[in-house]
Amino acid sequence: MAEGIGEMMIKLPNGDREVKMRLTWVLYTPALGFMLILVGCIDDAGYWSMFGGGMCQIQTNDGMLIGNVPKSGGVYQVPHGPHVAAATVGVKRMTIRELHNCLGHIAPCAVKDLVSQGIVEGVILTDNDIDFVCHPCIIGKKHKHPVPKIHEGERAKEFGAEIHSDLGGPAQTETLGKRRYYMTFTANQFPWSEGYLLF
Ligand SMILES: [Zn+2]
Repeated sequence: MAEGIGEMMIKLPNGDREVKMRLTWVLYTPALGFMLILVGCIDDAGYWSMFGGGMCQIQTNDGMLIGNVPKSGGVYQVPHGPHVAAATVGVKRMTIRELHNCLGHIAPCAVKDLVSQGIVEGVILTDNDIDFVCHPCIIGKKHKHPVPKIHEGERAKEFGAEIHSDLGGPAQTETLGKRRYYMTFTANQFPWSEGYLLF
């Protein structure tokens, strides 16, 4: 049973060199100890597969050879060194949302790209959902309204009828008296303010 879906880069042997190929719609199936690539999908992607002489040759539409996979044990397979098996140990399976949280709430599509392009290693994404609702992101994106430069509405009729108060702190730098919190009171009737250091 597939636990995830995504993209991955593979190296195709081609003589004494290797050609990188990006596979799309890759199903991650931990129970399967090998990777299966459907010949029909190679065809759909616009490439040609030819079998014969103990080899599977993959070519572009205009005949350029990009892969030469030898037959071994009755199947055409790409041998991998023991490092590949070792590399799969310790790989973490995460949803896009979980990795989004770990990476400081960056855009979900960026999370997906970081993994598919191999910039973030050691993670396999187990879903393809980039439209989830993240409450910390919603709260973080709320805009603060700017303080108006001109007084709006009617002023209070008499002094003390309306007092605006604000509590501030902790300030980055404490006062000589080691206080970091303050409180202000501003009368609405005319510009009068007092501030008090608290603690
Ligand atoms: Zn978020």
